[in-house]
Amino acid sequence: MNIKDEVKELKDEVVRLRRDFHMHPELAFEEERTSQIVENYLKELNLEVKTHISKTGVVGLLRGKDGGPTILLRADMDALPIEELNDIPYRSVNKGVMHACGHDGHTAMLLVAAKVLSHHREEIKGNVKFVFQPSEEKDPGGAIKMIEEGVMENPHVDKAFGLHLGNMIPVGIIGIKEGVLTAEADRFKITITGKGGHGAYPHTSVDPVVIASHTVLALQQIVSREIDPVQPIVLTVGKIHSGDAFNVIPETAELLGTVRTLDKNIARSVPEKMERISTHIAEAYRGKAKLEYHFGYPPLINSKEETQYVIKIAKQVVGEKHIVTVSVSMGGEDMAYFLEKAKGAFYWLGSMNKEKGLDKPHHSAYFNFDEDALPIGVEMHTRIALGLLK
Ligand SMILES: [Zn+2]
Ligand SMILES: [Zn+2]
Repeated sequence: MNIKDEVKELKDEVVRLRRDFHMHPELAFEEERTSQIVENYLKELNLEVKTHISKTGVVGLLRGKDGGPTILLRADMDALPIEELNDIPYRSVNKGVMHACGHDGHTAMLLVAAKVLSHHREEIKGNVKFVFQPSEEKDPGGAIKMIEEGVMENPHVDKAFGLHLGNMIPVGIIGIKEGVLTAEADRFKITITGKGGHGAYPHTSVDPVVIASHTVLALQQIVSREIDPVQPIVLTVGKIHSGDAFNVIPETAELLGTVRTLDKNIARSVPEKMERISTHIAEAYRGKAKLEYHFGYPPLINSKEETQYVIKIAKQVVGEKHIVTVSVSMGGEDMAYFLEKAKGAFYWLGSMNKEKGLDKPHHSAYFNFDEDALPIGVEMHTRIALGLLK
């Protein structure tokens, strides 16, 4: 039997696993039930299984018959704090928690890929490491902690691959790009302190709302005047909080936001600029500003040779006409950490189907994807590993 037929026989199983995970979603670092199922499944396959890595992470190691390189395949397991609005038989039973990004599918696909690959143990020269990580959605994320706890060693990982379901790409299509694929995603908080007072007597107060307003506008000058215009950057203030009453000048104001960049050096240059602008504006208006800045996931970089390799495999799985070059996304993805440590590639597995109404964006309370994508993902994982270990 060829790989495609082997995977086809397991379509019901991958769908059943996915729906079970979908019904029982768990938030970042709380994936207890999910990781227990993963652990049991991998043990059934006679893999070497390690649990509780980075809290709820699980790693299964498939040792081939002979020695050779080690290939890491990764899935993320966490859901989001969203109340599901889909009317489906496998709708989330956990109130306020939902698999709205497709990580239920990622976990199910990697499990079934482990099963298919375990049937080929005799042909494998080297090892496959199946990494099920907690918390992709919530910074600092599960990947970095798994790496700190040694997931890239024993045996040393030579190449790493992963995928993400993509509801912006039709099912049957695989999207990939060499080089940077997703952005560095950082976040900040600026606390502005003024002097509270009566709304009718502003001259006796220092108004943090006015300072905050000037600051929001001025921060955009970093994007337009301080960064090379051919280098993409986004600076978004997503939350402003100040005051409780219409006629009171409050004491403080808070600005929270995110900065997205595609280059680590540019990312590192931003806090100084933000601090300079925010503190000087505050001082100009007799107030004070304090910046807290947190560097998040780094840019995800697909290495050249491994990207070409994934394209070669995708040709076997979906055919040359069904591979698209995607553009870079300003979203973040902590698979980036694995790809800092090993060469490899991350790609989009198309999962949108307009006719079936499965075209809602990721993180929507109506998100759902076409399950026809699942066997394609299983086949991709399987062939990517097999092709390097035969
Ligand atoms: Zn997500
Ligand atoms: Zn995701």
